[in-house]
Amino acid sequence: MDLVEYQGKQLFGRNDVPVPPPGAVCRTVEEVAAAAQELGPVTVVKAQVKTGGRGKAGGVKVAPTPEEAVAAAEDIFGLDIKGHTVNVIYVEPASDIAEEYYLSIMHDRVAKGYLVIASKEGGVDIEEVNRTNPDAVVKQTLLPSETVDGLPTETARDILARAAFPDEVLDQAADLLVALFGAMVAEDATLVEINPLIRSADDRVLALDSKVTLDDNAAFRHDGYEEWEVEGLEVADPLERQAKEQGIQYVKLDGEVGVLGNGAGLVMATLDVVAQAGGSAADFLDIGGGASADVMAESLSLVLSDPRVTSVFINVFGGITRGEQVAAGILEACDRLGDFPQKLVVRLDGTNAEQGRALLTEADHPSVVPAATMSEAAQRAVELARSA
Ligand code: GDP
Ligand code: MN
Repeated sequence: MDLVEYQGKQLFGRNDVPVPPPGAVCRTVEEVAAAAQELGPVTVVKAQVKTGGRGKAGGVKVAPTPEEAVAAAEDIFGLDIKGHTVNVIYVEPASDIAEEYYLSIMHDRVAKGYLVIASKEGGVDIEEVNRTNPDAVVKQTLLPSETVDGLPTETARDILARAAFPDEVLDQAADLLVALFGAMVAEDATLVEINPLIRSADDRVLALDSKVTLDDNAAFRHDGYEEWEVEGLEVADPLERQAKEQGIQYVKLDGEVGVLGNGAGLVMATLDVVAQAGGSAADFLDIGGGASADVMAESLSLVLSDPRVTSVFINVFGGITRGEQVAAGILEACDRLGDFPQKLVVRLDGTNAEQGRALLTEADHPSVVPAATMSEAAQRAVELARSA
């Protein structure tokens, strides 16, 4: 789950990562006016959306007076930033910036550890800095065995010194990095990013922005992350929202072939073969273990309700749920869903796949196209999507 900036700053604050003084979360221009009066004279008016690059898109404005904060809010509410509509604005007392740095920590799956990235060149696109001036970007992997008691201050200092952070801020920035690491572990984040991390005119080091991704698999340890489910910040896509409510693992993608399968690995491989066949997947949907008619019907109904989907590729590997049960589930789901224009290309493998395929062939359902292999199924699904 991604947090918006102000939520990330709240999370930082309670874990001793220094942030600017608290601001106000506003949903109307009137609320912004009141907040700017109280927090000003100089405030910064910031769009709260789950994407970066708000500054460039006109979603971040420093307002020298409350009147200018109101004018900024009028421009920013309703703004579309990379497909995200601005419903919420955060008004914060403006910080006086002397320097901007970059700091982030993320999971490094290959190393089975953490990757810390630090740069003296912050406030700009870090990918760009990495391209044009790679020496300015310091990357260090840390293993869990090196961070049993948290990130050692010496290690933090060493990373920042190598990134050429100025001597006068090294102690503060090192303490901040140690706290940031603590926040990541305590809150089960997979990514924490601060861009820019600033040195203020009065020489304090603060997180001026935040990007935090929490690990959905750890939600149960944090009351389901309910505290972060806030009105106006919902996932933009209605199908993704519906899937979440139904407990279906669904991610919307850009293409036209609906994809569903069992197991995240198999579904990812399915996306690849669809791409190899010259098509592109409309979604990632993992029906998980088992393939009951109920799960199949719910999942199919979700995929088919997407108007972009012109064919569907169902890719199931029979395990405990045998091939003939999967086939029966698909046929029953089709009957329950009634008429729909898209064809379902079905590839079964694993336990009793033969029997499952035989059942599908026998049934001769007008919507179901059995396929023998994954690549054949992908070809068929892509052809059908094109000709639809
Ligand atoms: P992003 O564009 O989505 O990454 O949003 P940021 O929160 O990083 O803000 C973009 C830029 O606005 C920052 O890099 C700063 O240069 C500027 N900015 C943000 N907050 C303040 C502030 O309190 N004071 C000043 N002077 N500039 C700010
Ligand atoms: Mn930023």
